[in-house]
Amino acid sequence: LAPNEFIEEGGEKLRSIICCIMGHVDSGKTKLLDCIRGTNVQEGEAGGITQQIGATYFPAKNIRERTRELKADAKLKVPGLLVIDTPGHESFTNLRSRGSSLCDLAILVVDITHGLQPQTIESLNLLRMRNTEFIIALNKVDRLYGWKTCKNAPIVKAMKQQNKDVINECNLRLKKIINEFQEQGLNTELYYKNKDMGETFSIVPTSAISGEGVPDLLLWLVQWAQKTMVEKLTYVDEVQCTVLEVKVIEGHGTTIDVVLVNGELHEGDQIVVCGLQGPIVTTIRALLTPHPMKELRVKGTYLHHKEIKAAQGIKITAQGLEHAIAGTSLHVVGPDDDIEAMKESAMEDMESVLSRIDKS
Ligand code: GDP
Repeated sequence: LAPNEFIEEGGEKLRSIICCIMGHVDSGKTKLLDCIRGTNVQEGEAGGITQQIGATYFPAKNIRERTRELKADAKLKVPGLLVIDTPGHESFTNLRSRGSSLCDLAILVVDITHGLQPQTIESLNLLRMRNTEFIIALNKVDRLYGWKTCKNAPIVKAMKQQNKDVINECNLRLKKIINEFQEQGLNTELYYKNKDMGETFSIVPTSAISGEGVPDLLLWLVQWAQKTMVEKLTYVDEVQCTVLEVKVIEGHGTTIDVVLVNGELHEGDQIVVCGLQGPIVTTIRALLTPHPMKELRVKGTYLHHKEIKAAQGIKITAQGLEHAIAGTSLHVVGPDDDIEAMKESAMEDMESVLSRIDKS
């Protein structure tokens, strides 16, 4: 696939950043995802956005275009950003890879009109437990009384268009929310005032309806990841892959949707997956992705690939996947691998999945 071309960073290849969206119900997670995804879709090819299985891929070129107004001279070293399509903390809990979060970064959405809500705090605790960096999208700024829309503008530019009352109201709410985060033991600050990144979490005011602040959000995600996660984002050949969903698809039987975090998968690879009735050893029959967005999408048809490189969302067809378990790792059997040992390590995920089910 063309989008995942690698960019050399001091001799190292970096893979795309994987990001998920969390927050309280109705804070605007879905809408924000639509907004991030939607802006350039109408322009078709120029956007270069591709819809994947369970995720949307934004090539660096798209991010560069959308953040141009910020004049940050964004040197993008990653090939792009992969945003997981299912918002919410259920997907985050399932999205694990070798015990840690599959997501490199998260967007925590807070409704500016409501402040911190119960699921905001739950999300916050999950993120802290997994040591996942995040940015706060303080969403629905357009709900502030008298807000003047500045479609897709950087937030500072949008604020300059607002009258005094709107700015005062915004500052008041911001202050209140910073206090609420403080009560949770977290320092937060507007992202462009944050001099202490790493210790203090950044807030970007956004509107998922009119797009203000969305360029800032994208730029922050990429810059922060590049600055602090070079090691984690370094492409390696060893396959790291997590099962998102197990689905029956007409004409394909039981398939698994996976996120390939690192490495490369091939048609014909022998794989081991954790199954409800024991380890599943099978062979990849097909590696599938949806057709690019500009093409007419015919339901049920997919692009076939001989091989696919990380990071990507992929549908895999193979025999015997009926009892595969979402949230576990997929292993590829190499020529020197001991298959019994791989079966054992594949089943190690079972315990953590079961304990998660127990808790919920
Ligand atoms: P989710 O439950 O977090 O995924 O929230 P949704 O994305 O479904 O949004 C919940 C409601 O809030 C919907 O009616 C959205 O249209 C609305 N909404 C979301 N974001 C914004 C925003 O930035 N501004 C305004 N005015 N409404 C929003």
